[in-house]
Formats: sequence, structure tokens, C-alpha cells
Amino acid sequence: MTPAATVVVGGGIAGLVTAWQLATGGHGVEVLEAGPVVGGCIARHTVGGLGLDSGAESFATATPVVADLIAALGIDDRIVSPNPLGAWVRHAGGTAPLPLAALIGIPARPLAADVRRVLGSVGAARAALDLLLPGRFGATEPTLGGLVGLRMGRRVVDRLVEPVAGGVYSTDPDELEVDSVQPRLRGAVHDTGSLAHAVRALRGSGARPGSAVAGLSGGLFELIVALRSAVEAAGGTITTGVRVEGLTPGGDGWLLRTSLGPRTARDVVLAVPGVAAAALLSGQGVTVPPAVTATSNVQLVTLVVDHHGLDSHPRGTGLLVSRHASGVTAKALTHATAKWAWLAEQAGPGRHVLRLSYGRGDQPLPEAEELLDLALIDSTVMTGVALTRATLVDSDLTTWTSALPRPAPGHRAAMDRLREQVGSLPGLHLTGSMTAGTGLAAVVAEARACARQLTERLGPADHTTGTDRRPDPSVSASTSATPQPPETPPTAA
Ligand SMILES: Cc1cc2nc3c(=O)[nH]c(=O)nc-3n(C[C@H](O)[C@H](O)[C@H](O)COP(=O)(O)OP(=O)(O)OC[C@H]3O[C@@H](n4cnc5c(N)ncnc54)[C@H](O)[C@@H]3O)c2cc1C
Repeated sequence: MTPAATVVVGGGIAGLVTAWQLATGGHGVEVLEAGPVVGGCIARHTVGGLGLDSGAESFATATPVVADLIAALGIDDRIVSPNPLGAWVRHAGGTAPLPLAALIGIPARPLAADVRRVLGSVGAARAALDLLLPGRFGATEPTLGGLVGLRMGRRVVDRLVEPVAGGVYSTDPDELEVDSVQPRLRGAVHDTGSLAHAVRALRGSGARPGSAVAGLSGGLFELIVALRSAVEAAGGTITTGVRVEGLTPGGDGWLLRTSLGPRTARDVVLAVPGVAAAALLSGQGVTVPPAVTATSNVQLVTLVVDHHGLDSHPRGTGLLVSRHASGVTAKALTHATAKWAWLAEQAGPGRHVLRLSYGRGDQPLPEAEELLDLALIDSTVMTGVALTRATLVDSDLTTWTSALPRPAPGHRAAMDRLREQVGSLPGLHLTGSMTAGTGLAAVVAEARACARQLTERLGPADHTTGTDRRPDPSVSASTSATPQPPETPPTAA
């Protein structure tokens, strides 16, 4: 086989988007994926006869980057909005709908009725103090929890930001670097004079409450199906079940040691999680700092149940749980059949899909054998509907390890140093959630930027590869490499 000009290591969405853009530009590219299927954190399983997303299930719409990709793949007729009911939060003081106008839980209007319902009058008044404080107050706080706590009070952190951030990053906001998870937030506070106004500015003036995400009819995995076909139609190659185990410079490119034997490539794109990238880079004298490889683990329990008590969607599209709330071990529940109309239709009357997620930071995960009963108890407490093994149609447990980056203070600087080191190795490139952060919008934007840089380096397309040179129709001025984290939790609600 003629060696591909570029080998992309990792067939998650980052690797596939990079490969697709290279292939449509006429460049030879091969994706090597360790798993049996491509998609990475976007995956599918069948539970109770229903094809469901077992990982990511929605994408942020604050930037058009994912919607543009979907349109370019020709499946934009599948884009659907979630039920506008929104999700709820269970906190130390009770259970209430999540305020609709917010960014990672930070309220845009601290005195709004839905904010007062969660924080109480005193908590809301403290949050509104943010509007009177000078814009520079809290400006040097490195963590998300620290910044919000100083400007709006700890109750906003404990009851709103922590449950939402726990769902997105599986970690505590007091351990999250604000510049990594919301790179534009600090600047927006400076420009607008308050956190609340910054949230309004970042959400966009036309943002409708609760409209910050969208999904695909049939599940987000349809995006992977379409991408895979598009890569192959453009002349790219995808090989699954092959793990890249080592890299060494050789010839005018790289030698790859893989579980299926050696490969060569002129350029190599590492589109793998931080831990895998660190292992591959260690042989090149590159030290990947722990701040870059720190990740969280998540366990998802999917329940398909028959119970008409859930028909009224008692907790909207789901419920996020504050670590300070008692009586529930799960950190979140997504009522998937309440959230997505296409799924409710497929499930049929009285049948419901609930997805519970477990795992906060580096806390140990519950034992797998205990999880089904724990999930039934937790979902009963969270929904107020008695769910037992008698109501259970089917269930599945999915464990995601090292999947979600956990950007602690120092992460951004460490990432900059890493990029610099890798930049000195010709033909080696990084993309994916390790560099972009969590969330499809950020990951897709960065993969596109990576492919653009690589295309510039490669120059005119190599006709000897036999790939076609159709222009990439989705390259648009709106595509940006600025990380845009998801606005609602990837693992919940
Ligand atoms: C449970 C869960 C739910 C989520 N929900 C959402 C959501 O709703 N919305 C949202 O925007 N984001 C969500 N996210 C985050 C989002 O899915 C990720 O940020 C994104 O999919 C990461 O894509 P990636 O391609 O960078 O990495 P990955 O998806 O991790 O892909 C990396 C790939 O590299 C492969 N690989 C690793 N090592 C090697 C090797 N040595 N050789 C070859 N291949 C290798 C892996 O098998 C994997 O397929 C969720 C994440 C999780 C875990």
C-alpha cells in the first residue's frame, strides 16, 4: 500500500474532521483508530431495542461551527432542538427549574424569578451585587468558582455553577481554570463591567432562553456515520482496530509503530486524549505536563422503563445534582425521551429513556454491580416516580475513562508550552479535546484550524494519491478556532 501523506491517530470527531478536510482538499490521509468503531466520545448503543447515544448527545449552538459541519455533510435536515422545558437542579435547599438565561450556571439576570427560586431572595440579592462591583473585582481569580464566588456569592457557585460544571467537566468549579473553560469570560467582565452582563454578551443578544444546544434526529452518532462516509468518499482511508504504540522521526517524515505493524507518514496528527498523546510524545523528548493530561471518569447508566408517571416530564429534560444536595449519588439525570421528540416517538407511549451519570473529579466511581439498583433508587428520588426492576425494560452501563479533560489552574500555560515543544517537531500536529477542551464546538473548530494549517504546509494537493480535489464546501468565515465550551452539560439534562 502507498503510505498516506498524513496519518491521523484517533478516529474521534477531531480526527475525522481533520481527515475529511484534508481529503476534500485532495491530500492523501489515513485515520488509525484503536477502537472497533470510529467516533470516540460520540458513540451508540442499543438499549431496549432503541438506538441511543452512549456518549455526547447534543452540541452547543452559540457558534455555528457544528451546525455548519452538519450542513456541509448534507444532514442538516436532521438538526433538532431539545424540548424547551429545560432542566432542573437539586441543591442543598430543594429542587427547582434551572434558570434559563445562564452560562455554565452563571445567571444573566440575578434577580429574575427563576434565579430567586433557586437562590432565595438573599442569595439573589447577593448575586445582583455583581452589577454594582467594579469590573476589575475578582479579575485575578484563576478558578471559575473563585471568580463567580467573589462577584456573585458562594450560593451561586454551590447551587448553580457547580451542578452545571460538574455535568460538563465532571469536576468542581473551584478546580477549573476559568480561562480554559470560558476563554472569553474574563475579558467580557472587563468590557461590560459585570459578570451578569458578560454572560448576556457571550450568550448573544438574540439568544433564546434554553436554546443553547441542538441534537440530531436519530442521535448524534448520525454525524459520525456521515463523516465517515464523507472521508471515504473523498479518498481518505479509515482503519479501525489499530493502536498506534510509538512514533519516531524517519526518512522525510515519521515511522509509526502500530499493533498491526509499522506505518510511515510525512505528517502525523495526534487526535487522541491527553494520556494517549503523552505516551506517544514521551519518546520525542516532549514532556506533557500533568495539568494537560488530567482527566475525569464518568459512568453512565441508561434505563429504559415503562411508567406513565414520567409522561408529564416531572423534571423537564432532566436534573442536575449539586454535590451539596443529599439523598442522591448521581450527579445528573437526563430524561432523554422528554428532551428529544424523535426518541419519544420511537419509544412509544409510556416508555421512557433515562440516563444517569456518576463520577465527580477524581472521586472513586461506584461499583458496577451496584449501579443498576443505585440508578433506580436515584431516579425515583429525582423524578418522584417509583421506578423499580418491575418497571425496567432494559439497561446498560457505559464507562468513559480519561475522556473529559480537567483543566485546573496552570492548564492554559502548560498547553502553550506543549504546543511550542510540538511545534519544533516538523510534521507533528496536535488536535482534539486535549488541546481544544471539552465540547464538540471547541473540538470541531480546532480540528478545522489544524487541518487548515496542515493544508498550508502540504501545499498543492498530491495527485499521486488518487484522491479527488473537490473543494471543502463547509469552510466559512464563521469557522473559528476559539474554544467554545458547551453551554449545557454534555453528560446531563
Ligand atoms: C459521556 C460524555 C458525554 C459528552 N456529551 C457531550 C455533549 O452532549 N455535547 C458536547 O459538546 N460534548 C460532549 N462531550 C464531550 C465531547 O464528546 C468530546 O469533547 C469530543 O467528542 C472529543 O472528541 P475527540 O475526537 O477530541 O476525542 P475522542 O472522542 O476521545 O476520540 C479520540 C479517539 O482516539 C482513539 N485513540 C486513543 N489512543 C489511540 C491510539 N494510541 N491509537 C489509535 N487511536 C487511539 C480513541 O479510541 C478515540 O476513538 C461528552 C463527553 C463524554 C465522555
